Amino acid sequence: PAASGAPGSAGATGGPGPLAALVDAGLEVPVLGGGRVRHVNLDVAASAPAFAAVAAHVTAVLPYYASVHRGTGYASQASTALLEDARVSVARHVGARLDDDVVFTRNTTDALNLLAGAVPGETVVLDIEHHANLLPWERRGRRVLVARPAFAATLDALGAELARRPAALLSVTGASNLTGEVLPLDVLSDLAHAHGARLAVDAAQLLPHRRVDLEASGIDFLAFSGHKAYAPFGAGALVGRADWLDAAPAHLAGGGAVEAVTVDAASWKTGPERHEAGTPNVVGVAALARALVELERLGDDARRAHEDALAARLHEGLAAVPGIRVLRGFDDLDDRLGIATFELERGSVGLVAAALAAEHGISVRAGRFCAHPFFDRLATRANGLRVSLGAGSSADDVDRFLAALARLVADGP
Ligand code: PLP
Repeated sequence: PAASGAPGSAGATGGPGPLAALVDAGLEVPVLGGGRVRHVNLDVAASAPAFAAVAAHVTAVLPYYASVHRGTGYASQASTALLEDARVSVARHVGARLDDDVVFTRNTTDALNLLAGAVPGETVVLDIEHHANLLPWERRGRRVLVARPAFAATLDALGAELARRPAALLSVTGASNLTGEVLPLDVLSDLAHAHGARLAVDAAQLLPHRRVDLEASGIDFLAFSGHKAYAPFGAGALVGRADWLDAAPAHLAGGGAVEAVTVDAASWKTGPERHEAGTPNVVGVAALARALVELERLGDDARRAHEDALAARLHEGLAAVPGIRVLRGFDDLDDRLGIATFELERGSVGLVAAALAAEHGISVRAGRFCAHPFFDRLATRANGLRVSLGAGSSADDVDRFLAALARLVADGP
């Protein structure tokens, strides 16, 4: 594969190079007309390739693959330690309180569905949410509030809604998967608590890019996915208040979640195991925990500086491309992740996205991004095109994308 520059080195254009080595660094892909080019991955908001350090860790732990908790052999004990150490790593990384549980799930969707089975009343959400944070709440009663173009006005409307009728939970995204806008979580937690509700945060997008601290921000529940945080697929977590989780029906019924079973009855465990029936994804969970350690090693400030510089380059570049319209949910939220979704005044984003891949080796995403209500409220066209950056992105990636986009848009549909 072509060299992509060492992590931290300057990109070909003199801007920031990748901050960390990812498993896809230097990957080359075929393009139309023959030949191969270095792959530019601008779809990390969908799934981020694993850190190279995570891949090395997975290789190292794979030989210890064995059943957890009940096995007596060395590998079983090693696997159990991996699982339980990962719980401690996750708790530490997200600033969990001593009495919070860390429940391992498949992903954010699974984590929010688990919480939806535990919430003892209605949940209030905004219409800006990913479907994973919209649909699960219907079970116990859901109230959807249409956000206002100013976040300050949205806060007022949320306060009025919570005052009008009590809710058990306010559930918000930490950052929009459509616009990249970051929500002020401490303000939202104060608002929820002032009205006797708890706050759940869908951190699928936020956690890989910004440090989240439950205790400091007053967040009651946090859900996230390993595959967006530079670990492989298959493991995520729900972290939060043990009282609701212990009082809830088991998320999955089966072995490992019970103290004792007769043919007529079962007594369910409390703690994370109550919701983790079945053989756990130990390797996935170990990878997820290792990814969080790597995020810590890179440093919150360094990650922020790296991604802010690339996001500014992206946004400035997009503003200079004629015929596109970048979507914004709130005109008073300045903090944005390196995510931008735009629509074309003319032509098809699907065709542009396909041409970016086929002709330029650049991966993006076209569609409505599992946030149909938000997209449909902001957009004037049926589909948008999303680009998203992360720790493995470089200035060269952004520049190659902008140049290719400008050419495709100028050439027309
Ligand atoms: N929430 C947000 C904000 C997301 O962007 C996504 C995935 O795109 C999800 C939830 C769902 O994540 P998963 O598919 O890993 O469950």
